[in-house]
Amino acid sequence: MITSDLWRGKRFAVLGLARSGAATVRALVASGAEVIAWDSDEGRRLALLQAPPLQGRGWGWGLSPSAAPVESPHPNPSPEGEGLLTFADPETIDLTGFDGLIVSPGVPINRHPIAAKARAAGVPIIGDIELFAQARAALPPHKVVGITGTNGKSTTTALIHHILQTAGVPTLMGGNIGLPILAQEPLPAGGVYVLELSSYQIDLTFTLDCDVAVLLNISPDHLDRYDGFDAYAAAKARLFAMQSPTYAAIISIFDAPSAAIARSLSARGEHLTKIASGFCMDQSRWPSLQGPHNAQNALAAINACEALGVPQAAIDKGLESFTGLAHRMETVATRNGVRFVNDSKATNAESAAPALSAFDGIHWILGGRAKSPSLDACRPGFPHIRAAYTIGEAGQQFYELLDGLVPVSYCETLDRAVMMAASKAQSGETVLLSPACASFDQFRDFEARGDAFRAAVEALA
Ligand code: ADP
Repeated sequence: MITSDLWRGKRFAVLGLARSGAATVRALVASGAEVIAWDSDEGRRLALLQAPPLQGRGWGWGLSPSAAPVESPHPNPSPEGEGLLTFADPETIDLTGFDGLIVSPGVPINRHPIAAKARAAGVPIIGDIELFAQARAALPPHKVVGITGTNGKSTTTALIHHILQTAGVPTLMGGNIGLPILAQEPLPAGGVYVLELSSYQIDLTFTLDCDVAVLLNISPDHLDRYDGFDAYAAAKARLFAMQSPTYAAIISIFDAPSAAIARSLSARGEHLTKIASGFCMDQSRWPSLQGPHNAQNALAAINACEALGVPQAAIDKGLESFTGLAHRMETVATRNGVRFVNDSKATNAESAAPALSAFDGIHWILGGRAKSPSLDACRPGFPHIRAAYTIGEAGQQFYELLDGLVPVSYCETLDRAVMMAASKAQSGETVLLSPACASFDQFRDFEARGDAFRAAVEALA
């Protein structure tokens, strides 16, 4: 666990006790802070008292985890300086004097009432990455790589982490991927923390000075959380605003907003690396890094590892041995010469587009909850499509949009789409789930959708 003396005797409210929230409470309490924690799900509150139970002397339980919220929190931490946990809903207590409100990135701070309340009380609204940034000073000497972008963050984060492992560098992944950062054991001296950072996480972070900061791309997404596209792009730009100008900034300038951010940093000179599109690379030796989008991810990872001083041989070896991540262009089966590819993580048109150019003879399964009514970003891939099968809420709309451009069937469910696509596909062709939509209309999340695809493929006669 990552702890910090800086938090001893300080007072924090933590809202949301899923994985990163629970890890945050544990780290703060272990550091001697007073914590008011809440989650509307009682099971999550109870879980904090179990597996492993919070331990130590002198901790006061202001309330049982199932009790109603209290008006005033428990008094100051015990004289021994150990932490204190109280369960109460931060919305119902006076936040004056608190040193921070920690929310999970899923809390929409642009419209959630707790945000206005915290601001009125002068309490900073932060996330676990900001706490990690604060704890860094006392960690053994290390480096931090931060990766952001609309698409490709997880792949690039996992790839940089894999290359570092290949090079024998102590490293761990955190942020939007893997275990919560505060739950992990600090790395020994010389270690590299590789952090995947969504724009929501950057919004909750104020002092993270990345040794290497990477921006992959910016396209319209999550616009319900921002006052327009410019505000979304500005959120990504803050990763560089927090960074010392002599540290490495790596920016793919394939799209106009990313290019604008790179231009705004031109004074950084040699410390700024711009990756332009059209760069030709031989990807034939990287089985899990196919397609133009993975060329972008690989280039970003190569530049990041070079900035960290990783030898070229280890970079090459890492690119070759990388096995990719589940649900991102993942080949789940090959049957009778037909390849079945799970790209369930493609939740918008921009992220589905690369998969359409990565294969020929595609039977494309798409649909779900659309983030945008347009499939324009996918158009360059249309010549590769043999037939399309639409599902979910957007099924009818996408059927109408594609009708006349490619053979298309409206299938409603994923199971039906898999069956129909499998019956039509010929040897050498690919059945591709790359939905260009969120999954929430029919599935818990993109992982459940990808698992359902795999199960449907396995169930084929
Ligand atoms: P993120 O973590 O940013 O959501 P992932 O690496 O999980 O990104 O990939 C999400 C989806 O985006 C996958 O469908 C993948 O094929 C696609 N994708 C990956 N990298 C890129 C990229 N550089 N540009 C556009 N799409 C990408």
